Amino acid sequence: MVKGALNVLFLSPEVVPFAKTGGLADVAGSLPIALKRLGLDVRLVLPFYRIIREGNYEFRSILKNLEVPLGKENLRANVLETQLRPGIPVYFIEREDLYDRPNLYGNPGGDYYDNLERFSFFAHAAFRLTEALSFKPHVVHCHDWQTGLVPALLKGPYGDIPTLSGVASVFTIHNLGYQGLFPEEKFPLTGLPKTDFFHADGLEYWGKFSLLKAGINYSEAITTVSPTYAKEIQTSEYGMSMEGILRRRSAWLHGILNGVDYTCWDPARDSHLSAKYSPEDLVGKARCKASLIKQLNLDPSLAERPLLGMISRLDAQKGLDLLVQILDDVLELDIGLVVLGSGDEQIQEAIQRAADRHPGQVGLSIGFNEPLAHEIMAGVDIFLIPSRYEPCGLTQMYALKYGTVPVVRATGGLDDTINHFDAEAGTGNGFKFSRYESKAFYASIQEAVGLFQNAKLWKKIVANGMRADFSWDRSAQRYLELYRSVMERPALERGKIEGPKPNRIKADR
Ligand code: ADP
Repeated sequence: MVKGALNVLFLSPEVVPFAKTGGLADVAGSLPIALKRLGLDVRLVLPFYRIIREGNYEFRSILKNLEVPLGKENLRANVLETQLRPGIPVYFIEREDLYDRPNLYGNPGGDYYDNLERFSFFAHAAFRLTEALSFKPHVVHCHDWQTGLVPALLKGPYGDIPTLSGVASVFTIHNLGYQGLFPEEKFPLTGLPKTDFFHADGLEYWGKFSLLKAGINYSEAITTVSPTYAKEIQTSEYGMSMEGILRRRSAWLHGILNGVDYTCWDPARDSHLSAKYSPEDLVGKARCKASLIKQLNLDPSLAERPLLGMISRLDAQKGLDLLVQILDDVLELDIGLVVLGSGDEQIQEAIQRAADRHPGQVGLSIGFNEPLAHEIMAGVDIFLIPSRYEPCGLTQMYALKYGTVPVVRATGGLDDTINHFDAEAGTGNGFKFSRYESKAFYASIQEAVGLFQNAKLWKKIVANGMRADFSWDRSAQRYLELYRSVMERPALERGKIEGPKPNRIKADR
């Protein structure tokens, strides 16, 4: 048993409020706060992206010219610090040529060509930082492919350095669809000895190598963000060719549902809203709806009719093809629709064309817009999430809190958090369909729109949703238990990840 605070080094490529492209950032910005409340010493590390440099934060320079290896070279980085909350330091790895770019991972045309360099450097820099600060974590908790090298590096070159020897790693998969695949010739940039790590039980993946696979194979425990997704990814339907290795490690694969940070997502205290409201008094929700209708130039009569909403990456994963197929039929239901998203241009155009055919009925906003996301969450009545797959999904939980009724496909975390409404029993918080088919999606929308006409039942479903509590407390406790269990695995067993054990090499210090 560890005496005193349990130290966690938290490595995520995005963290709210500093940098965000999706739900991972929400999680990485709120789980550490919940862990801190449980008494842990949590410290985060992030690349110093341009969007952070341009943000309104107070940074303290703590290290200059930290030496960090990248392949055969030794490069330098500066380290800045701020606090996520008092007592939760966030360290930023500053290196202009790698991180001072318009976006986090790439341009609309595709990923940055040097993402391996960027995230390999990040992993090595984080480790060098622990040495420079003499910070000895008990657990390194890393997230998604961008940090997948971390568990492998701990089993290789960094396993013997004083701040990291014996440290256990936990790897969380927020989305199996992003696997961090790179060509074999780039392997030296990882800093891992090839003979020990480039094989089918290591990082090798059909002639290339995958950083996601590194995280899966070399971490002490793997988590994903909902119990159902943890099961799904072990099947060929959802496993994206990783199901075999995930099944092999299933004893150490856990599904822990993401929580919600209600200090950001609560209509009773949301500073983005034109009116606040709570389950006891929903007048403010009607005001938010009226203001959204005005802002997006929608038909004012929609104030009395159902307004549907969607906030999403416009990506095949999110089921937008289903929406596009039935868009005209849905708009015939005498409803309005608001979509906020960015991504696939064809999807954008298809929605825009439908908007042109149904003037006053559709509000489409392209781009990433945090304030508008909050206004939509409050201002619409029904929220659509027809995902093809959904590791956890946060927006359905936000919607519930905002008295907005979710219509979701029964997959991953959507299935875990939404219960189909039963009018007779008065139970349930939304509408769910199973088959990935536009007809099934349409039927669920129709059901939701039908219920909207029944004020009494509508009040019931809204109240059920607003009462639900998805705060972090329970899930943070589960992470704490997991940290303890990986630390308590005997050191010998910990080093012995299923599959061959690599030799350790000395760090270049
Ligand atoms: P994913 O991480 O797969 O994108 P999640 O539901 O887990 O999906 O999280 C998405 C997060 O990103 C939510 O906080 C949502 O509000 C936000 N989001 C998605 N698209 C936009 C957008 N265009 N503008 C603002 N916020 C967005």
